[in-house]
Amino acid sequence: MTKKITILGCSSSMGVPVAGDFWGECDPNNPKNRRTKASILVSSDNTDILVDTSVDVRQQLNDAKQKKIDAIFYTHDHSDHINGMDDLRAYSYRSGKPIDFYTNQYTADEIIKRFSYVFDGGMDSALYTPFLKPNVIENKGEITIGDIDLHVFEQDHYSCKSLGFRTGDFAYCIDVVKMDDYALDVLKGVKTFVVDGCAYHREKSVLKSHANLEQVFEWIDIIKPEKTYISDLTMHMDYDTLCKELPDNVRPAYDGLIIDVN
Ligand SMILES: [Zn+2]
Repeated sequence: MTKKITILGCSSSMGVPVAGDFWGECDPNNPKNRRTKASILVSSDNTDILVDTSVDVRQQLNDAKQKKIDAIFYTHDHSDHINGMDDLRAYSYRSGKPIDFYTNQYTADEIIKRFSYVFDGGMDSALYTPFLKPNVIENKGEITIGDIDLHVFEQDHYSCKSLGFRTGDFAYCIDVVKMDDYALDVLKGVKTFVVDGCAYHREKSVLKSHANLEQVFEWIDIIKPEKTYISDLTMHMDYDTLCKELPDNVRPAYDGLIIDVN
């Protein structure tokens, strides 16, 4: 089944430019360096799954002209992946029902604890109706959302575990520093691989929670994807500079990138 992947955002936690209009090594004149926080859309003809909801989500969905969201998949509970969930109200109000979100038990518990008003209707439930509905999934295994199959696996993100997934010949692995054999077995043969490379230049990094380039190439050697896109990009990662440094089949992602996959 053909699916469309939209890279809604490909930055690390602070965006590019970071607050204060600081661009680091990124050329402000290249629109591909203007990055919102990491999030993607996985779309079939019938189903649209939003992966993570940062505070940039309203802008991202409007830029993509996305008229409906059938479900949300949360990779983990870090604030730059969940804190924009309030803006999903608009979709729920329009459809007249809460949006199902899928994640593991730990992340679901954290979301419900931090955003309890989303689920209990808040102080005045007549005004504020619940707009998200949790669906707890296992840390590994296959699930189906609408007509899209996902094979989910757990990733080591140092400070917590995150979830990655494969759907058909595409895989998304954000906020990850190590992967176990189960994850790598699931990923073998993937043709398009979008992966965290936040620690790009830090081969002996103190940044323990994100993959560096050495690690990304180890994974590529095992998985053998046709095309890899590096995501979770910081202000130190200029688009054109990365294109020159990387082999042709490995490219930096950019906001608005659309990839057709099977
Ligand atoms: Zn994270």
